[in-house]
Amino acid sequence: NIPVLTIDGPSGAGKGTVSRAVAKKLGWHYLDSGSIYRSLAIAVLNAGVDLHNIETIVEVAQGMRLDFECGDELTVILNGDDITSRLGAETTGNTASMIAAYPEVRAVLLQKQKDFQRLPGLVADGRDMGTVVFPDAKYKIYLSASATERAKRRYKQLIEKGIGANLDQITRDIEERDRRDRERDTAPLAMAEDALYIDSSDMTIEQVIDKVINLVR
Ligand code: C5P
Repeated sequence: NIPVLTIDGPSGAGKGTVSRAVAKKLGWHYLDSGSIYRSLAIAVLNAGVDLHNIETIVEVAQGMRLDFECGDELTVILNGDDITSRLGAETTGNTASMIAAYPEVRAVLLQKQKDFQRLPGLVADGRDMGTVVFPDAKYKIYLSASATERAKRRYKQLIEKGIGANLDQITRDIEERDRRDRERDTAPLAMAEDALYIDSSDMTIEQVIDKVINLVR
């Protein structure tokens, strides 16, 4: 039985940073499920598909060849092209959130995510890791923070990367994306009943990492 630690929650709660650090400490594999949705968003944008055309989006998802290279940073290769630099863009995230609302799309991506479960263990980061993709996971966390705090963190990240950003716009985008992720009919963002809830608003990233590591050890 391969152990899985799921870390779910809204965007900007610190899931990525915490998941990567915990995976490294435990020596486990890491699944960034958001980047799978983001990669599909890029494939769909590249193909110029209308975002309401579910059938074609599903075809693009089925035909998508994805390779993840885990170095210091995650490198993502889509159909032979390095798309890493486009993954974090706001357009990519917003498009990902739109196409993630289609159950047919989620069904295609389900197995691609399950395939990450390998020895000695997996840290799976996303929205529905503990509820849908790995419901039998041994350890489950739901990591959240206030929308204002998450927008501030996102803003800081973008500025550090030299990407122009507007805090009010980001706050609105985050609230809009939360609403869409929560209200969609398929796999809405929700906490698994057996998950541990952590609010990171007033915690440092190290405090969150320690808390998660303590749960597993
Ligand atoms: O986590 P990240 O911001 O990279 O995810 C981008 C979008 O992909 C989310 O807003 C969400 O709509 C979707 N997503 C999802 N299920 C996951 C991971 C991401 O629906 N497990």
